[in-house]
Amino acid sequence: MTATDDKTVVREYFNATGFDRWQRIYGDGEVNKVQLDIRKGHQRTVDTLMGWLEADGNLAGLTCCDAGCGVGSLTIPLAQAGAQVYASDISAKMVEEARQRAEVALEGKNLPTFEVKDLEELAGRYHTVICLDVLIHYPQDKVQGMINHLGSLAESRLIMSFAPKTLFYSALKKVGEFFPGPSKTTRAYLHREADIVKALEADGWRIERRTLTKTQFYFSRMLEAVKD
Ligand code: SAM
Repeated sequence: MTATDDKTVVREYFNATGFDRWQRIYGDGEVNKVQLDIRKGHQRTVDTLMGWLEADGNLAGLTCCDAGCGVGSLTIPLAQAGAQVYASDISAKMVEEARQRAEVALEGKNLPTFEVKDLEELAGRYHTVICLDVLIHYPQDKVQGMINHLGSLAESRLIMSFAPKTLFYSALKKVGEFFPGPSKTTRAYLHREADIVKALEADGWRIERRTLTKTQFYFSRMLEAVKD
């Protein structure tokens, strides 16, 4: 399957069954045990990241790009902390859900800018570019290009999380849980941390912080790369 095919499948998935599934996982309603585990794991990634950013003490007014924002799980706390957020996603349904959630949570204050956009189409410059749990949709040979591109949008910091390939065998079964039912054809790509670090360093980035969030069905390596 080519990357273009992958992208079409991903877009269609997140505008249909994937939307239903993930907006529930990234919500607070009732879900099954596996989905609850993924919800908790993902929330831990978001909380860890917000902890990093808040510890730096400069979030108010900071320009942030949330690339592949989903339903706004990170966009909203970033905006609540005063950041100027630009958020986009390939799925119109996810973006609309994010916009609605943001309007409620932020009560009209400091609303992010939302757009339906593929990562590749993103332009502009932001202090910080963040791409959480999206690279799972990108094959390894496309990741270097994606890091180049996202890095070109970032003035000082690029933060990304991905499913690490070191856990490949034990994780394979669990990754299957990400795409149940008819959407099973959607591929899930794991990435070697060493490859991601190499790609970042080749572009002049230095790894400042890293963490691994792991629950039974969710695992995500997050790297913060900075430029002085
Ligand atoms: N980053 C969000 C978060 O952590 O809450 C959402 C993570 S969700 C697992 C993956 C998201 O990536 C989906 O909303 C999907 O539509 C989006 N996505 C996948 N491929 C994309 C692409 N090429 N460009 C933009 N968004 C993409």
